[in-house]
Amino acid sequence: MALLDLLLPPACAGCGRSGDLVCARCLRRLRPPADPVDRFYAADAGTLIGDALALALAAFAYEPTLRRILQRLKYMGASRLARPLADAAAPALRTLLRLSGPALLIPVPVHVERQRERGYNQAELLARELARCTSTRAGTLLVRQVATTKQHRLDRAGRLRNLRGAFAVNAAARPPPTVIVVDDILTTSATLETCASVLREAGVMHVYGFAIGREV
Ligand SMILES: [Zn+2]
Repeated sequence: MALLDLLLPPACAGCGRSGDLVCARCLRRLRPPADPVDRFYAADAGTLIGDALALALAAFAYEPTLRRILQRLKYMGASRLARPLADAAAPALRTLLRLSGPALLIPVPVHVERQRERGYNQAELLARELARCTSTRAGTLLVRQVATTKQHRLDRAGRLRNLRGAFAVNAAARPPPTVIVVDDILTTSATLETCASVLREAGVMHVYGFAIGREV
């Protein structure tokens, strides 16, 4: 698989045409979430975990082209896709950085067993590539303590229950004042909020969220 990858010209993860990892046509298809207001998420004060997450922003609507690319990144070992995705999402991250000021980008962690199965954490690859193209720093601050069950079928309250106790701050780390938690897809923001509450308890003053795709 890896050898074939090197020998053949890449096929676009969005449309299958050969030539680029993501072709120019597919990149042009990526669009911001439809309603501009919908790009920003204020924390829901009524949730179980409080209002730890200041704001979250997604670069693109989770439409079929982006879905295919992100699924390839996540499930088909196509780790090289993190770079073109980060390049495409960088302008949206710069918008968030103008609000947040200097911040450390940290990925939503996956459980060590799942990372071993997959070989990498897609959010970590994205955080690293996003840091490269916005001249910020990326680091790992959170660890995943329990392998949570799949979230797809749960509503928001179910997701929050499922996630409680899932994350912890790495004991050896010195938390910076401002952090942007990076994930591939933003759905209910339950994951980002849970990460934010753990980070706030560890002394981080401001926690923001950033995702490549916004699923509604
Ligand atoms: Zn394409």
